[in-house]
Amino acid sequence: MPPTGHDALRSRVQELLEKNLVMIFSKSYCPFCKRVKELFTSLGREYFAVELDQSEDGSGIQEILFEMTGQKTVPNVFVNKTHVGGFDKTQQAQQDGTLQKLLGMEAVTYDFDLIVIGGGSGGLACSKEAASLGKKVMVLDYVVPTPLGTSWGLGGTCVNVGCIPKKLMHQAALLGQSLKDSRKFGWEYDEQVQHNWETMRQNIQDYIGSLNWGYRVALRDKSVRYENAYAEFVEPHKIKATNKKGKESFFTAERFVLATGERPRYLDIPGDKELCITSDDLFSLDYCPGKTLVVGASYVALECAGFLAGIGLDVTVMVRSIFLRGFDQEMAEKAGAYMETHGVKFIKKFVPTLVEQLEAGTPGRIRVVAKSTETDAVIEGEYNTVLVAVGRDSCTKNIGLEKIGVKLNQRNGKIPVNDEEQTNVPYVYAIGDILEGKLELTPVAIQAGRLLARRLYGDSNLKCDYINVPTTVFTPMEYGCCGYPEEKAIEVFGEDTLEVYHTLFWPLEWTVPSRDNNQCFAKIICNRLDNDRVIGFHILGPNAGEITQGFAAAMKCGLTKEKLDETIGIHPTCAEVFTTMEVTKSSGGDITQKGC
Ligand code: FAD
Ligand code: NAP
Repeated sequence: MPPTGHDALRSRVQELLEKNLVMIFSKSYCPFCKRVKELFTSLGREYFAVELDQSEDGSGIQEILFEMTGQKTVPNVFVNKTHVGGFDKTQQAQQDGTLQKLLGMEAVTYDFDLIVIGGGSGGLACSKEAASLGKKVMVLDYVVPTPLGTSWGLGGTCVNVGCIPKKLMHQAALLGQSLKDSRKFGWEYDEQVQHNWETMRQNIQDYIGSLNWGYRVALRDKSVRYENAYAEFVEPHKIKATNKKGKESFFTAERFVLATGERPRYLDIPGDKELCITSDDLFSLDYCPGKTLVVGASYVALECAGFLAGIGLDVTVMVRSIFLRGFDQEMAEKAGAYMETHGVKFIKKFVPTLVEQLEAGTPGRIRVVAKSTETDAVIEGEYNTVLVAVGRDSCTKNIGLEKIGVKLNQRNGKIPVNDEEQTNVPYVYAIGDILEGKLELTPVAIQAGRLLARRLYGDSNLKCDYINVPTTVFTPMEYGCCGYPEEKAIEVFGEDTLEVYHTLFWPLEWTVPSRDNNQCFAKIICNRLDNDRVIGFHILGPNAGEITQGFAAAMKCGLTKEKLDETIGIHPTCAEVFTTMEVTKSSGGDITQKGC
């Protein structure tokens, strides 16, 4: 008599296991089932899957599987008739090599435990940490020169063409302001004070050179192999590295971390790549840029415009829509307004359509034609330098990811990862600016890289926390923030749930030179339904970065308005305003500061 019911199903399951080297019992909507299938694809192995939710006998089969394996959940994976388990166990088996053995694959030996592609903030942190944990690690870093031929050393964006030179040039601008203030404090010097671009640039570049050297030494000290070569995948677990001279070498690794960062985007209008510069060129420019048009209105654009104006240049910013998209707009508007009162010109709601050279030189003369985003108006202007700062593109499209099946967001080139920075291909991880939906900041890349190495090779399971990351925009009036912008807080929690406290303030240091009274601004957004927890912190004032850092730590600890009120301020400082905030936005009360 043929088997019926339960026995028939059991025979069917046995038959499936006999017939298929890799058998996956799955459910069509289950994300872990999808990932386990991708794992086998990345190993180049076919699988057979039964989608239990779409099969008539699905629940019966699940019962049988439970009897056979003690596992109720999906995916339920068998290889060569051996039960492997769910996603975690399958991944574990892949990592310790037992899966490859079951699949009959030859024992693979790799050149490295880990290859990190990109020696910037994230890549260096990750590779050094992995090496400290005893792993054999290689890091490759290669800078493709800008269209104008600018290139730089090891360390990535932050140290060479980002945070470090930016903050130092911001400091140059602040010193200019301090010089002006100093006369009121009794300093006497000749009327003639001028700024020398070449001196500033050279000293900053020398400092960067010392950092580049320090990174190389640190890699050597940790026994991380460093290759100054461009890396791209040629097949699973294998990359090709091409050095400056075009020499190709091939390396394999058990795991890879992608940390390739981003590069400035261009406008895609006639003449832009030949005639305009980006932040990648600015900091090492060997001549003073002169009268400058900055295109863009986010971090990079406003910060660069701010310090260029601060060292005495004629600066105009062309803004397509709003300042600092994604930031609290009240704060962004105030940061912009301060720049305007300090000499930066703004052309709002215009975009360039053409740039052409009027005269070659260092700097030369460039004509820019722009059109309105709202009307038919067309304007033109003449500048010595045009700095394009309209966003950055991820360096993910020319590294052979398609050859190993790593998924990209095709629209923006960003890489989606799970909460452990793992891509859809289990042996490939990604960190830093190229991650989809994460913040593009140096400390974020470093933290993610370091924690990833500890999870992979140490006994840690700590994940990178991307919530409440503080940041500061180093515009002439610095803007620091942590948590929600007001608009976003209203969208998420509803206006009635929130209480916003705010105040203008006047730093004591600015009183004697009598400048900029009531232009600094502080604001906190509290959730009334959650014990008046501070969910948004915003400050516009000197040293905003230094101030925001400490309050961000307090927010991690669950800072509430009550705790702020209980905190005794440090007098006379700017940060003390957060301990004495009384006026709510909803009250419409006066927020100008009258005295200390
Ligand atoms: P990166 O530091 O960009 O490093 C990636 C490296 O990989 C680069 O060296 C690149 O050349 C290399 N690479 C790319 N492809 C390959 C390949 N195929 N093979 C080999 N090597 C490759 N953040 C802050 O926190 N504070 C700031 O004040 C700040 N200011 C900034 C100012 C500017 C002007 C800019 C542009 C950025 C600023 N940032 C700031 C952002 C910060 O620089 C980045 O978030 C950070 O550098 C990202 O680190 P990363 O490791 O992801 O990439
Ligand atoms: P971004 O945040 O992507 O902003 C791009 C800017 O360019 C926006 O103002 C945008 O205007 C404008 N724009 C885009 N296309 C344009 C076009 N065709 N014509 C005119 N304007 C155009 O880019 P970013 O400023 O380069 O910054 C990149 C990242 O680096 C940031 O997200 C940040 O995390 C990081 N960063 C951090 C710091 C810091 O920590 N202090 C400093 C610098 C950079 P719209 O608003 O109209 O789109």
